[in-house]
Order: sequence, then structure tokens, then C-alpha cells
Amino acid sequence: SSSSSDDYNLFNFNQRSIDSNTSEPITPISPLGKFQAKLDRSNNSTTANWDKSSLPDTIQTFDEYKSLYALSINDPNHFWKMAAERLDWYQVPTKIKNTEFDCRSSRGVEIKWYEDGIINVCYNCLDRHIEKDPKAANEVAIIFEPDTPTEVRHHITYAELLREVKKFANVLKKHGIKKGDVVTIYMPMVVETCIALLACARIGAIHSVVFGGFSSNSVAERISDCQSIAVITSDFGVRGGKCTPLKSKIDQALTMEQCKTVKTVLVFRRNQGILPLQDDCAEQRNSLQWTDGTDFWVHEELEKVDDNCEPEPMNAEDPLFILYTSGSTGKPKGILHTTGGYLTYASLTFKYTFAYQPGEIYMCTADVGWITGHSYVLYGPLSNRATTVVFEGIPTYPDVSRFWNIIDKHQINIFYTAPTAIRSLMGHDDSFVTRTSRKSLRLLGTVGEPINPEAWRWYYTVVGNSQCSIVDTWWQTETGGFMITPLPNVWPLEPGSATLPFFGIQTQLLSKDTKQPMQPPAEGALCIRDSWPGQARSLYRNHKRFVEVYFEPYPGYYFSGDGCEIKENGYHWITGRVDDVLVISGHNIGTAEVESALVQHHDVAEAAVVGYPDVIKTQGMYCFVTLKDNVAESDALRKELIKTVRDRIGAHVFPDIIHFAPNLPKTRSGKIMRRILRKIVEPDILNLGDTSTLNDPSVVQELIEKSPRTR
Ligand code: ATP
Ligand code: MG
Repeated sequence: SSSSSDDYNLFNFNQRSIDSNTSEPITPISPLGKFQAKLDRSNNSTTANWDKSSLPDTIQTFDEYKSLYALSINDPNHFWKMAAERLDWYQVPTKIKNTEFDCRSSRGVEIKWYEDGIINVCYNCLDRHIEKDPKAANEVAIIFEPDTPTEVRHHITYAELLREVKKFANVLKKHGIKKGDVVTIYMPMVVETCIALLACARIGAIHSVVFGGFSSNSVAERISDCQSIAVITSDFGVRGGKCTPLKSKIDQALTMEQCKTVKTVLVFRRNQGILPLQDDCAEQRNSLQWTDGTDFWVHEELEKVDDNCEPEPMNAEDPLFILYTSGSTGKPKGILHTTGGYLTYASLTFKYTFAYQPGEIYMCTADVGWITGHSYVLYGPLSNRATTVVFEGIPTYPDVSRFWNIIDKHQINIFYTAPTAIRSLMGHDDSFVTRTSRKSLRLLGTVGEPINPEAWRWYYTVVGNSQCSIVDTWWQTETGGFMITPLPNVWPLEPGSATLPFFGIQTQLLSKDTKQPMQPPAEGALCIRDSWPGQARSLYRNHKRFVEVYFEPYPGYYFSGDGCEIKENGYHWITGRVDDVLVISGHNIGTAEVESALVQHHDVAEAAVVGYPDVIKTQGMYCFVTLKDNVAESDALRKELIKTVRDRIGAHVFPDIIHFAPNLPKTRSGKIMRRILRKIVEPDILNLGDTSTLNDPSVVQELIEKSPRTR
């Protein structure tokens, strides 16, 4: 299907790129000096000169990346066989890749990896490390950092974690939960949550984690969609010093007719009841409703079971988990991931992208309720015998130094967080960061939204002391693991670019108008040309919707829903969701670019840009702007911001409305919900759509009241 036109151009980092926001040349941030390379992606290429029989421990040079990348594209069976050998299988797969991406083919879209392999994910995350090297037993698997920094911290070794997982797996079995059953997990961010996921994986039950901040309605919707037979929860959670009820929300959810499939509710005591209780928490625990025959305290059940529990041998294509996407774009979709391919991919991407070395302390701030928590708090790190930090709290409690204090306290080497957290923390005085040491840091990472260059630079210079590389990782719930990401110090970075594709990932831009492939440099809909092992296999019990959403928009390709620009040097710049692009007087304008320009202004903390219908220009540009602490709103500032945008991007870009908004509607994972902003400015406020995944629904009403388009 390919020709030499698929090759990327030569890229030469001596010809420096220009940052569109500052018009200053971007200095590639890398010790690599003069850097020139060709990334050959043609399928006919014979550049696959990898002659070793296994994968290297880390990727050190761009040449090494190139030859392995070429191999991963030209001979995926060979590459992914080597990747699978990093895991321990009961039966090593002989069939590696068996996939069909074309919705028009007679087979239809079907994705299978390692289909005759037999494996257990929990065994690969725990048992095998100790069996291979008894020293692993006493190595720390999880460092738990509680909401209140003064609470006792605890370190859980691999041996301790394995023991607890086995016991809890036996509790699940005692309640009749077996291979193939779906279990909903609704927990705070604590060690017991990790135990619950691993125990499900051990016995072959399919977990469906619902973030602990969701309302009882949202939980009910997710329970009924996947028909789970059991719920694992906690009496309550503690975040930012506040007690958040969990069990009582499950009680409410289970009164609903569509949740009648649930037969058992297993309730953990927060932190096993070890830590002292605040008053509001004690009240919460004392007022719990209890349904005999359905509700069980986990600590009581644990006393009734054996210590030993053999892992269940699973087929590589047996489901591992269902996870509902965060809902930035509409009704939550039950993304289905399977066993062998998912773990192979989560494990390899973790190892290479963070260049993880034994003994390093790694922290990802995501909640286990999101895919980032699944792949990069739990499965990726533990399958690599890493030490992973589980943080119960929030970045602003007790104050905005919290992350940086945790880094010092646990001597964290690798720190991975989201642009939304970075933007909110950079709105405060730098002294909150600089009063901490952060000397232990080696590498920083981000995920979740495009990171505007301004936030990138602050993260790099202030947080990382200009010493640490940053991996800006683009990926999705649907992709299971990193797709476009730097590998540390293997090629130069450009602030705001996720740079180049991971092994096995063939990005392809397609024109939104003609649906034809576009050759870089270009900007279009970001699609992927062929399958990779970590990819979602389907939507749970709804393969038709899976094909409609991801494979029908651009037949033959996986469609990510995001827009992307690929520059001359092959670097990828995510422009935001395709639906968010504005068309103004014939110009396509990416909202991410305008937002970046606004955030460059020293008074602006955050910005969200959407379009509204305009007879003359097709669309008008509406900018929601959150100012930094102690900055007053004024018309002069409005004018300044308009000028900033025009200066940075071009005179054709004219913000029509600047709306100062102290708060923006966000998903519970912290992403701005532009879908709702669009409805506000259209205005079409009677059809806001699903708002159940909003973090704080009252924000919407405030915006409607203040908007010049609805007043
Ligand atoms: P839903 O699919 O339900 O609307 P969602 O897309 O927010 O929710 P996720 O799968 O958690 O759910 O997020 C993936 C999306 O996040 C990507 O499609 C992209 O828009 C954005 N994203 C993630 N990482 C990056 C990144 N490094 N740079 C730019 N955008 C990113
Ligand atoms: Mg999405």
C-alpha cells in the first residue's frame, strides 16, 4: 500500500524550527548536538537490520531506534515476538499478529495478538520476580503516600503485595466470582485498589474500574452497561482533607433496577483501618447502611480464606478489563482490553519511554480510575519490577508544594503528571517549587492534553531545574499505552511536541475533506495504519459501535479523533480533537494553538477556545480565560489578550469574545470539556448532553449566566 512518498523527509536540527507562539527559534533540548536522520517508514524498506534475537534493555541512540522501528513495521511478527519474550508465558505464543483494520473487508475489523499464548497478568507483575530472584521479595513494589502527609507512610514489598493479592483473590473466589465475570471497582486511590485489580487479574475476572469521584448515577450507568456481578468498594475515601463517601453511593446505585446483576459488595476499610479517623470519616463509617447477604467487610472475609491461590492460566485474548473513557466527547464507551497484548505493550512502553532502571522510584499522579493509572501506575511498573508510588491526595493539599514535597520525601526519580496539574500549579508563586530540592529527579512526563509550550518550559526549567528530559506522551484509553512519545535523550525535544511514534506505530494524517492520506509536512486527522498489541479489541458487547467510531470515519485506518500536524522534521504536534478545530473565514484554526498563545500572557492561568455560528465568518471565536490569582478582569486586559493572539498566530486570528471565567467545566480527570462550552456559546443550553462526568456541574450555570451569547 505504500510508496517512497511515505518516507519522512530528512530532518536536520541545525535548521532550527520556529516556535509559532514566540517567533523565536526553538532550541532543541538535547545533549545530542548536530542531529540528522531519516526515518524510513516504507513497508518495502529493507532497512530492518536488527540481527539480535532479543530486544535491548534501553534504547540509547537514534540509529538503534531507527533500525528497531523499521523492524517493528516491516516484520511486526519478529519485533512483537521479542517483546512478548520479556514476559513469562505458560505457553509461549507461536501466532503473533492476526489483525484486520479494514471495515470494508469480508472479515470486518478484528484484532488478535498472541492468540495461542497462555499467560497470567498478576503472575507477571508479582510471582515471577520473586521466583527468578529471591531478592525481589524484599524490594518495595508500592510506596503509599496518604492524603495527609503526616499520616504513617507505608512501603509494601513484592512479597507482601503478593500475599495480600492471593488472600483477596481467595475472597473473590469464596463469593463465587470466577474467570470471565465482570467486577466493578469503585475505590479511592489506595493500595487496596491495586490489590483488587491484581486479584481480579489473578483469577481471570474482568475488572471495570469506575473513578471514585463519580456520582451514584454514573456508577449505575457503568454497572448496568457491563452487567457486573460484584462491586469492590471502600467505606469512604479521603482527598484534600475531605471525606468522600463511596459505599453509600454504591448503595444508591444498587437501588436502581438496571443494577440488579450485582450480587455481592465487598467493602474495604480505608487503609485497613490502620490510620486514625478524622471526625467526618468516623461519622461516615458509623452511619453505613448494611445489607446482609450482599455486603461484606473485606477484613472479616480475609480471615476466612487460605493464603495460597494459584494464578489462572488465561488465553492471551481473554478480556483483562473494561474501562469507560472519561467522557470529554460524549456517552462513555466501555473500552475492552485483553490480556497478552495489553501487558506486552504496557510493559515495553513503560520500560523504554521512562528508560526505567532497577531501584528507581517512579511516580505517576493519575488515579487508577483512568487508563494512565491502569497502564502506568500498576501494570507497566509492576511487570518491570519497579517501585511505584500510589498517591491518595491532590496536588493542592495541604498546599501547592505537595507534589514537590513528595518528590523529596520519597526521592522520586521519574515523575509523570498531566498538563492540567502543571498549569494549575504554575499559576502560583515559583517559590512553592523552588523551596524544595527535587535533586532526585531524572525524568519528567506529561499526558492527557496538549501541553502548551509555556507550561512545558515551566515544567522543564522550574520543576526540572533544566536538568531533566520531558516525555510528552500522546495516547488514549483505546490505545492501551504510549503511541507518540520521546525516548529520553535519544532525540532532541521541542516544547509542545510529542515527537515521534513508538515501535510498531505507523501514524498517518488524513484529510478531513477528501479523506485522502496526506504526506508530511501537513495537518490532518491523526490515524494509525496498522494494529499494535496494546490496542483495545472492542467496546464491551458493542463491536458495531467500536467499528463505527474508530474504523468507519477513515476506512482502512484506526481514527484517533485527534488532529495533528507533522512538521518537516517528522515531529508530531497534537492540535486537539478534530471536532474542536475552528473554521473562520476559510482558515482552519486549531484551538490548542490559540489557547497556547493566551496562556503565554503572564496574567493567564488557563484558556479554552470554542467556536460559535457566525453568518459572515462561518464561525466566531469565543475564548474562556481563567486569570491567575490576584489578577483583576478589565477591558484593557481583554484588548491585550486579543493582541497577544494576533501577534503570536497571525492577524487572521481574531478572538471575538473574551470571557473571564474563574472556573472551567472539566472532566474528573481534569480535562476541559469543550463539548459543553460549545453548547453554551452556540447557544444551545437545553441540550448540554451528558454532564454526569463533570467534576463540578455548578460551573456550567455560572458560565451561562455570564456569557454574552446567552444573556
Ligand atoms: P472521551 O474519549 O470519552 O471523550 P478522553 O478522550 O478524554 O475521553 P482519554 O482516553 O483519557 O479520554 O484521553 C485521550 C485523549 O487525551 C487523546 O485522544 C488526546 O485528545 C488527549 N491527549 C492525551 N495525551 C496527550 C498528549 N500528550 N498531547 C495531546 N493530547 C493528549
Ligand atoms: Mg477519547
